[in-house]
Amino acid sequence: MDVKTESTYILYETPEDGIARIVLNRPETANAQDTKFLYELNAAFDRAAHDDDIRVIILAANGKHFSSGHDLAEKDPHQHMHDYDTVGTMCGFTCAGAEAQMSREEEIYVGFSERWRNIAKPTIAAVQGKCIAGGLMLVWPCDLIIATDDASFTDPTVSFGVGGVEYFMHLWEVGARKAKEMLFTSDSLSAQDALTLGMVNKVVSRDELQEASMVMARKIAAKSRFALKLTKKAINASQDAQGRGLAMQNAFHLHQLAHTHWLKLYDLLLDPTGLPEATQKALGMKPAATK
Ligand code: ZN
Repeated sequence: MDVKTESTYILYETPEDGIARIVLNRPETANAQDTKFLYELNAAFDRAAHDDDIRVIILAANGKHFSSGHDLAEKDPHQHMHDYDTVGTMCGFTCAGAEAQMSREEEIYVGFSERWRNIAKPTIAAVQGKCIAGGLMLVWPCDLIIATDDASFTDPTVSFGVGGVEYFMHLWEVGARKAKEMLFTSDSLSAQDALTLGMVNKVVSRDELQEASMVMARKIAAKSRFALKLTKKAINASQDAQGRGLAMQNAFHLHQLAHTHWLKLYDLLLDPTGLPEATQKALGMKPAATK
């Protein structure tokens, strides 16, 4: 049976009984994530999570790259929050000062990623090409990651004056020393680096990616749904027992301090001097503001 439902940016497929395949489908922007994109993705995850016939969820992407991260060109992002039924408990999305920014990021960035991490069934990310900043916040919440041999993983946020993406899993994913290297330098991890560090489970060619994710999904789907749920809870709780949740909250608040710093200096969330010229233009920045 193959059921396919399309929203604007996200495809929801059931390629085989027991397996849902959620596909990022905004390839013209390398799957840049704006508010609508993230709410559609969250709805797709909810649909798969709530369907008892689905045992495994694959997260894949159409196009050359998995995701270029958050869509910095989105206009009036805080106003857009009122277009959606929020899933967290934050408010103040259009309030003054730092409040709106913090509320929005807690809801749709760290909040969504934590929600997806805790879906009570196994999830597999199938990643090709570049996976940058916010892209990491889609793949890191997944339980397993399969990457193509040309995949790369990058968090360049320190170049823009912010110390890491909102879902601060770097240390848990690659260890403290490598986490510092990837953040301090903005260098990319290759698929092979990520495999060696235990951040990805398997590296395959582009041609093999879809089938490799299906093979893994089939193997898992044959197991007891309840046993899988309990195993996932046990492993996630073990990370949390080591302080993961508290460390995440602390990093998130430091991240908000960085945004507030740049808002005070430039009325922008990021250090504009670290942004590529094309992004500065897209944001309508005047050259004087970059000094
Ligand atoms: Zn942020």
